[in-house]
Amino acid sequence: MQVSDECEYCELLHDITGRAAALLTGVGLGEKGSRRTGRVRTSDGFAATAIAADPEEIASLLTPPTLAAERALFATANRVRRAAVGDAVHLRAIIEFSNHCERSCWYCGLRRFNRKLPRYRMTVDEVVEAARAAIALGFRTVVLQSGEDSWYDERTICTMVRRIKGIPTPSSPAGQVAITLSLGERPRAEYAAFREAGADRYLLKHETADPDLYRRLHPGMSFTNRKQCLHWLRELGYQVGSGNIVGLPGQTVSTLAADLAFLAELDVEMAGIGPLIVHPETPLGKLAKRNEARRSNANSGYGYGKGSGLTADAMKDARLPADPVTMTLRTVAVTRLLLPLAHLPATSALGTADPQGRQRALQAGANVVMPDLTPPRYRRHYEIYPNKICLFEDPSSCFSCLSRMITGLGRYVATDPGHSPKWPLQGGDDAGQGNPAPALPNPAMTNPPLPSPAMSKGEHSHD
Ligand code: SAH
Repeated sequence: MQVSDECEYCELLHDITGRAAALLTGVGLGEKGSRRTGRVRTSDGFAATAIAADPEEIASLLTPPTLAAERALFATANRVRRAAVGDAVHLRAIIEFSNHCERSCWYCGLRRFNRKLPRYRMTVDEVVEAARAAIALGFRTVVLQSGEDSWYDERTICTMVRRIKGIPTPSSPAGQVAITLSLGERPRAEYAAFREAGADRYLLKHETADPDLYRRLHPGMSFTNRKQCLHWLRELGYQVGSGNIVGLPGQTVSTLAADLAFLAELDVEMAGIGPLIVHPETPLGKLAKRNEARRSNANSGYGYGKGSGLTADAMKDARLPADPVTMTLRTVAVTRLLLPLAHLPATSALGTADPQGRQRALQAGANVVMPDLTPPRYRRHYEIYPNKICLFEDPSSCFSCLSRMITGLGRYVATDPGHSPKWPLQGGDDAGQGNPAPALPNPAMTNPPLPSPAMSKGEHSHD
């Protein structure tokens, strides 16, 4: 489906917003007074909470023909976010407890062959203490992330999880902090043991849904196996997070559309989408340097070496020339339309690529921020990419700085663990309800598609 006309694009937005509204009404989520008592179950199983969209339609949504149409996309995603998950922004404290990695992904600075990176492993005690500090500051979700490091075996991770789950949360002593694990690919039995120990969620980005590109960027790994892991996590009752990188070499708008179709098919509870940031000590970094040298005279716009990572190839079927930050924002926005109930972080990679990146994402569909609560002495060594934001912030100033950013956008910081709204309540009757979304039916959603000023016909400028 080719959408070259602004009006046609707005029709498409109208259509998808209508489908989002119908989906929310259909699954009975967010209605005034309704209790969110579980992953949405129908008589014959779990209801899908994703819009069924074909990749061509998604590709069209990703490529607004004008700047006005792009603004309409962001405004619509913001509206759908508000109606589906409210104005709360969930803060997740991420603790990156080991930068050892057995893999050799072509973009990641943690890759095992990067011998320039000083390696560290935090002890279980150190991880638990970092989690305790995060909880004391008000965080209600702790994300434990590492490279793929089997030094932390099943027992060690389970001990970590149990001890952190045992830390009382000050505001609701009966409640528990939510734990997200992000340790990469592990055998099913280990995922099961972690879940048994109390882990609530698992974040495993699929990185790219193009199997061939996946294989080239991840030596010795396969997209099939990645999918298998994600399906195991789903079967084991985790709230599942996945997501992709925007701006990989060889990626096109069609590939990105396949990424989003994959996230919708998996009906993820969370999707982390960030731009590639080139790391010099990786094969992509070396490639970028070579390309940079080659085109040093021809200023051909963005490319590797400028911190962007986006090749002209990546954008070859885009309608507007888009920089990687803009393309990431569009991807986040379209994800919100396809998965109205998902938690979508404004990623640190986006904040690194653009000082306003996270704020822009929060206004284009995102509702989560994941500040880095790794103890400062380790933090700078978790160098998946260079020049990460907030490397030297101390945890307490980080919390207040983010709170200011969030309230400055007219939003508020959630005080609950921020479980997926489609998930069974955890830890008592009211746990997980937290700060409820504005009641649905929301006129803007249920009489869809009421165009927002930005997208109403006749009003948009043809710029
Ligand atoms: N071992 C874990 C965590 C990997 S690091 C796992 O396999 O899931 C977390 C995320 O950082 C990755 O999923 C990847 O999407 C992102 N990442 C790694 N290198 C990056 C880079 N150079 N630019 C942007 N994102 C990157």
